[in-house]
Amino acid sequence: MARALSLLHGDDGVHGLNVRYEGKTRALRCKAVVLAAGGFESNPEWRTRYLGPGWDLAKVRGTRFNTGDGIRMALDAGAAPCGNWSGCHAVGWDRNAPEFGDLAVGDGFQKHSYPFGIMLNANGERFVDEGADFRNYTYAKYGAVILRQPGQFAWQIFDKKVTHLLRDEYRIRQVTKVTANTFVELVGKLDDVNPAKALETLRAYNAAIRTDIAFNPNVKDGRRTEGLAVPKSNWANLLDTPPYEAYAVSCGITFTFGGLRITTDAQVVDTDGMAMPGLYAAGELIGGLFYFNYPGGTGLMSGAVFGRIAGSSAGRASKAA
Ligand SMILES: Cc1cc2nc3c(=O)[nH]c(=O)nc-3n(C[C@H](O)[C@H](O)[C@H](O)COP(=O)(O)OP(=O)(O)OC[C@H]3O[C@@H](n4cnc5c(N)ncnc54)[C@H](O)[C@@H]3O)c2cc1C
Repeated sequence: MARALSLLHGDDGVHGLNVRYEGKTRALRCKAVVLAAGGFESNPEWRTRYLGPGWDLAKVRGTRFNTGDGIRMALDAGAAPCGNWSGCHAVGWDRNAPEFGDLAVGDGFQKHSYPFGIMLNANGERFVDEGADFRNYTYAKYGAVILRQPGQFAWQIFDKKVTHLLRDEYRIRQVTKVTANTFVELVGKLDDVNPAKALETLRAYNAAIRTDIAFNPNVKDGRRTEGLAVPKSNWANLLDTPPYEAYAVSCGITFTFGGLRITTDAQVVDTDGMAMPGLYAAGELIGGLFYFNYPGGTGLMSGAVFGRIAGSSAGRASKAA
């Protein structure tokens, strides 16, 4: 693999890049460069610097190579930063998953069925509305919420009534899971959790549910809790049918939201607001697409759309040069 190190650039724009290949650094000259080297999610130093304290310890869901090189190279050449540099896509991810993604497991470490259960932190407390919306509208921001909990982890808890609704990722071999037949047995098995407080939380949750409203996983059913400091707005099922299942999760970062400013032709813009001749960008390293949250499926869509635009623009620019 050739690692891109820096851009060759001058007053007339970008005309190639320096790469390291088989241990040797060499210059590759060309008429246009398309940067598509991902965000900085795999760089613990940049994560801490831009996302904030604690992000150094997040697990990375994907490749170890997306360390912000493409962004850094462009900034060094005068490109403008853009977008939500302190934001990212991050999900609930098995607490014992490795530091970076494992291609053999793929998405399997994610745990996205929390709308049908509850989550407890180390204090034995709920900390987020698990049923605020469908999974597709909350999963990408709840990783950050888990990271902010003491010890950066949580346990997701379900009872037998909903286990048939759990996504396939709950049935992989590499899962951190405990089962129990009573609440007392369960709280004793939740590693690193205050058991007395957890027991209190489970009982208070059950007591707060509007059982007069029917459960329906296919719509936002409004079956909710009332009177809790942290409400659950939909799909609030009684935890009353053993065996209970609990899954330990921490935060898995997918990609970062901050990046480079581009034109509608996917050409990188400099800090004077001018399009940089010969430099184009696509994918995660574009800033300004996502703020605070992310609707499912749009990462690959953005890569495909801006990848095509960037490639076409770079081709046209090369022909004209
Ligand atoms: C586990 C997981 C599940 C996902 N699921 C979905 C999903 O269901 N739907 C969806 O839309 N999106 C999903 N995404 C997000 C989506 O995959 C990414 O947003 C998309 O692949 C980003 O494309 P990209 O080209 O910007 O970066 P990438 O596909 O990450 O490619 C960047 C490439 O650049 C290389 N690179 C980095 N630095 C250098 C360098 N200095 N020199 C040379 N090469 C370098 C890296 O090795 C990498 O191959 C998922 C991501 C992960 C990690």
